[in-house]
Amino acid sequence: MKNNNFILRNRRKNIFNFIIVVLLLISIKYFFIQVIDSGFYIDKSNKNRLNEIRLDAPRGFILDRNKKIIVSNRNTFSVEISPFHFNEKFNIKLFYDLILNAKKRSNIIINKFNLLDTLKKTKRYNPNSRINIINYIDFETKAKIQERKLDFPGLIFKQITSRYYPDTLRLSHILGYLRPITKKLYFQKIGYDLNDTYGVDGIESKYEQKLRGEKGLEYRLVNTFGFDYGIDRNQPNFNSIPGANIVLTIDYDLQLKIEGLLNGYKGSIICMNPKNGEVLAMASSPDYSLKEFIGPLKYETWDKWEKEKILMNRSTAGDYPPGSMYKLVSSLMFLEMNLFPTTDFVFCDGSYEIEDYSNPGIPKIQTCWKKEGHGEIDLHNAIKQSCNIYFYDMMLKYQDLHTNIIDTLYSFATDLGFGNKTNIDIYETAGRVPSSIWMNGKHSKKGWSRKGAMPNLSIGQGDNLVTPLQVINLINIIAMDGESFPPKLVKSSITRSKKINRIHNYTWDKIKTSMYSVVNDIGGTAYQLKNNNYIIRGKTGTAQTTSQSTSDKLISWFSGYVEKENNTMSLVVMIEDRNSDSKKISKIISKEIFEYYLEEYINE
Ligand SMILES: [Zn+2]
Repeated sequence: MKNNNFILRNRRKNIFNFIIVVLLLISIKYFFIQVIDSGFYIDKSNKNRLNEIRLDAPRGFILDRNKKIIVSNRNTFSVEISPFHFNEKFNIKLFYDLILNAKKRSNIIINKFNLLDTLKKTKRYNPNSRINIINYIDFETKAKIQERKLDFPGLIFKQITSRYYPDTLRLSHILGYLRPITKKLYFQKIGYDLNDTYGVDGIESKYEQKLRGEKGLEYRLVNTFGFDYGIDRNQPNFNSIPGANIVLTIDYDLQLKIEGLLNGYKGSIICMNPKNGEVLAMASSPDYSLKEFIGPLKYETWDKWEKEKILMNRSTAGDYPPGSMYKLVSSLMFLEMNLFPTTDFVFCDGSYEIEDYSNPGIPKIQTCWKKEGHGEIDLHNAIKQSCNIYFYDMMLKYQDLHTNIIDTLYSFATDLGFGNKTNIDIYETAGRVPSSIWMNGKHSKKGWSRKGAMPNLSIGQGDNLVTPLQVINLINIIAMDGESFPPKLVKSSITRSKKINRIHNYTWDKIKTSMYSVVNDIGGTAYQLKNNNYIIRGKTGTAQTTSQSTSDKLISWFSGYVEKENNTMSLVVMIEDRNSDSKKISKIISKEIFEYYLEEYINE
């Protein structure tokens, strides 16, 4: 009996405890409904709710120098679903059929097999969020979906702008491209939303702040079924501010012309106005189509581009041996220093013995490009005929007088813009001008021969590296008698010219006379470019990519300028992977560009 009482008491106690626990659970649930989830339940009980929508600003256009449109915008749309408003009436099959039947380039983020699952999960954990299911559908497809909007509860369109590029002109390395903002950048950059794009390279990146404009804000009334009743005028809505247009210095037609000429080659072409530093045309080949960047970029495409260095802008970021183009730098130094008169002759018999720093003690026979030699030759003719031996001989004469002639050459080269960035609007590299300190650092173990490596530097071989932009910059400085205008791609960029005072006017005159003879005198290395009506000056170059290079790894250079009254246009053409038979290609292309320019722009 005593035992029975005990069991009974215990049972009552258990029932009591159970009731307490149940009451507790109910009050917790009640607390969640009343306090934590109040927004959720209140929203569900009301007919309408407000959707806050950030309005993208139309991105500014990119125009050529004559205001011809190069890059504009096309309206596309993304589709989002509000899981809260989504229900079983949503016709998933019809929706995806409408998208696929449109046969337009769009970016499906969530396919029809995963949609329900994703929505269920989101509805459970984050019902007030929105799921982006597809990007870049066009206006017509959007209209077709909108006609059937009763079949798609919870569906919301968001306008997104994508770039629109011309069909023929590329300009890819200069324009740059847009990419979706990464989560990391989203948290760093103020004013961006996820799914926004931003400029990654070129002008799109450099002028991102000007081009993107400012976002607007719109409050829209939407009912529980996802029907949109329009803007709530009682809310503080405001419009977006469109991005500013960027006017380039590029001439659309000239750009198209040089891209056509460069097609199929590996190399660079730049055309400029030396009088103000404006880049009229600039191409790098191989290039890529910016249309690939509308929507998702395939991994394989990107991988291929990276492997083949297609994304590298050879014009501003390709580092190349300058070859004989560099003789202009050495010549300016010889003319200014004048310790050995440049009118004195050096004898070229076609070869020259210099020290080989990689094999000390064993002399290396360097040859002139003209095997039988140029005979007695002075500086003027050494430029005109591009004699190597003249430069070796002069450098070693200076070497005997000044053990630091390499550093003098270094200081002339850097004054003329080599080894430094030009400060153009897009990414560039500085190239390399070796000084004695640099040579000591690089060749510390083996040492380097002041009678071997050093004279090689004066003809643009060895450790010199330049960009095509730096080469045309030198030509511009010569054309302007020492006044240097930094290259620019955007009309409104404010640049300041500087005068290279250490070089005198008579020196500029002499170098220009020699460059005149290169093109206009019989025996000049670019005589084929001679034009009977206009004065063209220039310099040719053939560079070996390495000292042991094979014959099909030559780089073909030409750089020069044409003058007619007030008009001046300079150009540089650099083509890689040439052999001894095809090294003239830069001159052939240059001739076509000069003729096109004179015909289209001057001869009116
Ligand atoms: Zn020679």
